[in-house]
Amino acid sequence: MHRERVSENVYWFQSEVYAQVTAGVVAGPQWAIVIDTLALPDETLAIREFVEHEIGVPVRYVVNTHYHADHSWGNCFFPGATVIAHALCRTLLIERGIPSLESVRKQNSAYRQVKIVLPQLTFNEGSLTLRVGKKNLTIMPAAGHSQDGIAVLVEEDRVLFAGDAFMPLPYVVDGDAEDITITIKKIGRMGLENIIQGHGDIILRGEIDAAVRENLNYMTNICKIARAAVRRRAPQDYMDEMTIESCGKSRVYLGGLAEELHRRNLRALYKENMEGRPAGKAEEE
Ligand SMILES: [Zn+2]
Repeated sequence: MHRERVSENVYWFQSEVYAQVTAGVVAGPQWAIVIDTLALPDETLAIREFVEHEIGVPVRYVVNTHYHADHSWGNCFFPGATVIAHALCRTLLIERGIPSLESVRKQNSAYRQVKIVLPQLTFNEGSLTLRVGKKNLTIMPAAGHSQDGIAVLVEEDRVLFAGDAFMPLPYVVDGDAEDITITIKKIGRMGLENIIQGHGDIILRGEIDAAVRENLNYMTNICKIARAAVRRRAPQDYMDEMTIESCGKSRVYLGGLAEELHRRNLRALYKENMEGRPAGKAEEE
C-alpha cells in the first residue's frame, strides 16, 4: 500500500492490490477520521495501524463515500468508530452489500473476517460539517458513479476526497451519466488544491482543469456512441471499435482494469438507450 502526506494531518493511501483504490485520513490531536476503507482486510488494518501507532490517536469516524465493497467493507475493522454515509448507502449495503459479501466469502477466504457494518450517521441532502482539530470537513453529495456518492472537502486545504465520482476513467454502470457530468463540473469549479480520486493518483492543482475537461469529454463521447449504436445493424461491433483513446482519454492505468470498465460503460449506456431507462443497477466497484 502506498501512503502519502497530502497536507498537515491529511494522509492518502492507495491499494497495491486492487484497482488503485484510495482512502484517506484526517487527524486531530484527540482522534482521527478515516475516509473509505480499501478492498482487503490487510490493507484496511494497515491504515488503522498507522493511525493508532504512528499518529497515535484512535479512529472516531469512518466515512463511506459510497456502498461499493472497495470503499465500505472495511468498516468492521474500526469497531469503536461511527460510520457516516449517505442514507442510500445504508439501504444499498443492506440490499446488495450483505448478499454480495455472502457470495464473495465462499470464493475468497480473505473475506471470512469481514462483516458489513452499516452507517449509523446518515444524511440525504445538504451537507454535514465536522471539525477535526484545526480542519473543517464538509461532507456533501457527489452522485453519478452511484446514487449514494458523497465527497469530503477539507476546507482549509481545498483538498477534496471525491470518492468514485472522480476517477481516471468515469465509471457509470451503477450510476447515471447525467449526474456524474453535473458532479464533475461542480468539482471543476470548486477551486481545489488537490482532488483525491476514489481510484488512481492524486490530481494536483495544475492538472485539475485538464482532468475535468478530459472526463467531461469522455462522458460526452461515450453517450454519443451509445446513442449512435442503437441505430447500427451491428451495435456491438461498432462499440468494440471505440477505444478509450478515441473517446478522448489517454494513459488510464487503474491496475489494468480501464479497458474493461470502458467496455462496461458503453454496454450499460447502450442498454439504457435501448430500454429507455437509467443504466443498470448492477453490483460494481
Ligand atoms: Zn471504487
